[in-house]
Amino acid sequence: MSREDYEAVIGLEVHAELSTKTKIFCNCSTKFGGAPNTQVCPVCMGMPGALPVLNEKVVEYAVKAGLATNCTISKDSKNDRKNYYYPDTPRAYQISQFDKPLCEHGYIEIDTKNGKKKIKILRIHIEDDAGKLNHDDFSGDSLVDLNRAGVPLIEIVSEPDIASSEEADAYLKKLKSVLEYIEVSDCKMEEGSYRADVNVSVHKKGTPLGTRTECKNMSSFRSISREIEYEIERQIDLLEAGERVKQQTLRWDDVSGKTFAMRSKEEAQDYRYFPEPDLAAIKLSDEYIQKIKESLPELPESRKERYLGEYNMTEKEVGIITASKYLSDLFESASEICGNRKSVSNWIISDISRILNEKEMDAKDIPFTAEQLAHMVQIIDKGTISSSIGKKVLEEMFENPREPEEIVKEKGWAQISDEGEIRKVVSEILEANPQSVADFKAGKDRALGFLVGQAMKATKGKANPQLLNKLFVEEMNKMS
Ligand code: ADP
Ligand code: ZN
Ligand code: MG
Repeated sequence: MSREDYEAVIGLEVHAELSTKTKIFCNCSTKFGGAPNTQVCPVCMGMPGALPVLNEKVVEYAVKAGLATNCTISKDSKNDRKNYYYPDTPRAYQISQFDKPLCEHGYIEIDTKNGKKKIKILRIHIEDDAGKLNHDDFSGDSLVDLNRAGVPLIEIVSEPDIASSEEADAYLKKLKSVLEYIEVSDCKMEEGSYRADVNVSVHKKGTPLGTRTECKNMSSFRSISREIEYEIERQIDLLEAGERVKQQTLRWDDVSGKTFAMRSKEEAQDYRYFPEPDLAAIKLSDEYIQKIKESLPELPESRKERYLGEYNMTEKEVGIITASKYLSDLFESASEICGNRKSVSNWIISDISRILNEKEMDAKDIPFTAEQLAHMVQIIDKGTISSSIGKKVLEEMFENPREPEEIVKEKGWAQISDEGEIRKVVSEILEANPQSVADFKAGKDRALGFLVGQAMKATKGKANPQLLNKLFVEEMNKMS
């Protein structure tokens, strides 16, 4: 047997914080980043006798998420107590859903190297988030902050249908994009509002599934991919050495790039689930579900289809733009304002995507407006600046967003379109590059590109490129 005989099996449990204004069982604010314990009340602090009241918006958002992921919505569901003690959970139980989740049996479709693949969703249920422990390295104290306690979560549990780190990555990105489109979660990974428990096992093809390990609360796409790849190799090594994989909860260490065992896996019965006696069952009518269905906005797939049908765009362009609601909204608004869809799409696909990548920034944190992007395209179209200056303007818009005209004026980046001035540059460049002139005369068109490039360099990208081209050809044709 060799390593190629093994298959990896991955299942993901995604926790997304819902963007309701108030918590799931009380009226406290869900706003992120407040001073510790300023957004709390007896209910979310777990005081004895305080009674929870279910926030209707939470149900609505969860149903939305279920419908957007092709789930069946249960008209008859309930909350359950999941009992465990941890200092960030003073009530000593979480209110979750056990055997009757709100949504079941859905799927989302991902693109893989072998084409489209459906990843099945087992269930989506609602539950409350725990508080947070802040460990103070200086004093050695651990301080409890309950602002997050009671923030509503949906947990989206996939079937073990995922076969590689690439597929897991595509699934997580697609799911995030769907949740962003329907505006039920801001999915800010850096704030922990979109995080995943990653389950990995390996088995030989055609044999029963292997034992899984689980790494909880991961909130970086890159770490998740690395963890999966590491676990697959580690588990195959164990099996090849005749050992067993232990069912464990693991911790991923980003620095060493390894997983470490935290504890042996807990089972459902360890939690002594029972129906939450302080809350009524959740009964939904067909009309209610239908109304939410009708309120769903356009989802990424259908936007993709629409762009492909209506605009002359490639599958790849459309894929990049529609993957993010924010990019796709930016694209639509900016195109509408400046009337140059092709150019807006190019800027998004090339430079904006590149900068987002470099800054590890999420599209929704783009600091400039659609108007500002549209205006930049317009001043390029008008010839006020060249597109290479446009790149610099864009960088500036990321750093300190303001009107592109203002940036150009301030920096003295306006394009030189004065013929006399450009002719002077052209003469200088021609004089300095006799070999290129000879090449051009000998029919090597590439020489012209080189000369234009030199002139651009000399003018720091400010010369009007069309004019440069024209004058170079003119001048060289005059030369014998
Ligand atoms: P728990 O909360 O105990 O982890 P859940 O049923 O909520 O259990 O979630 C189990 C997750 O593990 C699901 O996403 C499921 O797809 C995945 N899973 C189940 N069996 C395997 C397996 N053999 N290998 C990898 N993932 C698995
Ligand atoms: Zn509260
Ligand atoms: Mg789990």
